[in-house]
Amino acid sequence: MRVHLCGVRGSTPAPGAEFLRYGGHTSSVAISHDDAVRPALVLDAGTGLRQVTPLLGGGPFTGTILLTHLHWDHVHGLPFFRGGDRDDARVTLLLPAQESGESAAAALARGMSPPHFPIGPEGLRGDWTFGSLPTGPLKAEGFTVEALEVPHKGGRTYGYRVSDGHSVLTYIPDHCPTVLGPGPEGLGEYHPAALDLAAGTDLLIHDAFLLASEVPAEAAFGHAAAEYAAGLGRRAGARRVALAHHKPDRTDDELDALARSFAPGGPAGRGSSGAPGTPGVPGTPEIFVAAEGGILGL
Ligand SMILES: [Zn+2]
Ligand SMILES: [Zn+2]
Repeated sequence: MRVHLCGVRGSTPAPGAEFLRYGGHTSSVAISHDDAVRPALVLDAGTGLRQVTPLLGGGPFTGTILLTHLHWDHVHGLPFFRGGDRDDARVTLLLPAQESGESAAAALARGMSPPHFPIGPEGLRGDWTFGSLPTGPLKAEGFTVEALEVPHKGGRTYGYRVSDGHSVLTYIPDHCPTVLGPGPEGLGEYHPAALDLAAGTDLLIHDAFLLASEVPAEAAFGHAAAEYAAGLGRRAGARRVALAHHKPDRTDDELDALARSFAPGGPAGRGSSGAPGTPGVPGTPEIFVAAEGGILGL
């Protein structure tokens, strides 16, 4: 599969000269089959969803959008998705089944309808279907997907494990593992849902909103540290870990420094044994900082 990183920023877009290299669009990842021209599966609909339209070669989007949850930075791209908002589009949008039993369309419309926004979900052109997703397996656009709930803050949140039968992508952009306890390093628990989603994955795209040093003061906002993402990758046997969902204030220079700290031999690139990580070897994943526009072949 091919993975397009269309938006890797968390919370709110980050325009400006200091954010150009890693990008300012919020969460969205597009996935295409190896042999397909266009992506058919999209994970999250932050403002990065606008970046999916140019991948469609002028055609409509026909596929599935899976939302991890309904926070603004994961849905605000929806009404600006020109490839999906056209008469010949066919879109299935699925989101976590709400604890209240509220329908998917109604839950989405609470944030997207007048007076908050000029139109509701039903105002999008094309053939849109909105559905609630229970945890567990599903088939979508020729991919096998496993959805599991992960702790976050304020609303039910899923992580996804996507397989094409050949490779596996794990996507956990918003995750607050300290909700379940401090874990071995004080960064949160390495809990079964996270470990199951990431087990042996080819690429783990994970929340790295915080640095370990920020966890004591800021974990209550609902996010994980970059060092936790790396630790999860190591424990789960991931091949690569993409640090993502960057804090909106985290500049390109600061993200460069984060990348250097995880480079083999760098201060944070060492495994729990203290040995430098070796890219491609199970237990010592390659760890890198996700940048908007990145295309990864799995
Ligand atoms: Zn988010
Ligand atoms: Zn969130």
